[in-house]
Amino acid sequence: MSMERLLPNPDPISAPYWEAAHQGILRVPRCEDCGHMHMYPRSICPFCGSARLRWAQVSGLGELHSFTVVHRAPSPAFADKVPYAVAIVALDEGPLLMSNIVGTAPSDLKIGQKLRVKFEQVSAEISLPVFEVAAT
Ligand SMILES: [Zn+2]
Repeated sequence: MSMERLLPNPDPISAPYWEAAHQGILRVPRCEDCGHMHMYPRSICPFCGSARLRWAQVSGLGELHSFTVVHRAPSPAFADKVPYAVAIVALDEGPLLMSNIVGTAPSDLKIGQKLRVKFEQVSAEISLPVFEVAAT
């Protein structure tokens, strides 16, 4: 099993998301016809089917919608990271985003906690959006 962490492989649809993340900006697709934002990036709006999508910068603020704690590393690349939280973050603008929660022990996480995005550079091209508990 590889010691290297698998990283995102941007495609034409997701590349703008990863380019922005690498610049420390969180953005999501917004439909020009119905106005809804969504995640993950895709070629048509999941609410109305429109292909008229535009990238919109969001605040990077949200709350902990759901999470699970990984105790057993799925590969050697994660051996020094367990236990860690895999979370669904509800962005203040609406979309749900899967990410990791960093900086807080998983045992201290609570549904509804306010979160703020930060970016972890993991390669020359990729920075991963992760979330930390926001100071209250
Ligand atoms: Zn739409």
